[in-house]
Amino acid sequence: MRILLVEDEPAIARDIHHALAETGYVVDIARDGEEGWFRASTEEYDALILDLGLPKLDGLSVVRRLRDESSTVPILVLTARGSWLQRVEGIDAGADDYLTKPFEMEELLARLAALLRRVGRHVTPLIEVGALHIDTRRLRVLLHGRAIELSPLEFRLLRYLAHNRDRVVTQGELVEHVYGSDEPESNAVEALVARLRRKIGAKAIGTRRGHGYIMETPAS
Ligand code: CA
Repeated sequence: MRILLVEDEPAIARDIHHALAETGYVVDIARDGEEGWFRASTEEYDALILDLGLPKLDGLSVVRRLRDESSTVPILVLTARGSWLQRVEGIDAGADDYLTKPFEMEELLARLAALLRRVGRHVTPLIEVGALHIDTRRLRVLLHGRAIELSPLEFRLLRYLAHNRDRVVTQGELVEHVYGSDEPESNAVEALVARLRRKIGAKAIGTRRGHGYIMETPAS
């Protein structure tokens, strides 16, 4: 799940980024309203977390521009404490939910998950493919009931393939969803797939030459 965070305060951006990444989201950060609007209208995100007080272009204008462009991306706005007017204006402009600063990170995560659920993008905590059990909340993977250790990148790759099981996913998709805004070196995806195969079994991930990779549900 790919999230765009638009927040100009570095400490808050870092904390939110950290919490989201730990939960398994891929996060891009924009530091001002112009950049946030530009990225949200040119790239694909599952949701936006948008501060309203932003340099260059304020958050409300970002929401209005996106809705004027018929963007349906779910938007959670962060508002200043005590500013009920900001909240009303945010919702009026087309935001889906709001959270008042300061907030607990757990609440942000819960609101975001609820927002994604409402628009039908389920944050499924448990995914099973054959003998693999992937707990996306605890970031744990069991193979035949035994825990296996995965690096964060290996985990993200496995989760993405498992979410999209029985469908070929392209290299480009994997780069986008596994690496986020960190551009990986060429062949990084192949190397990562090879490492993951060594841990979960070579047959768990199929290659479709020239197309991409697929994780298939084993016939039972
Ligand atoms: Ca701000």
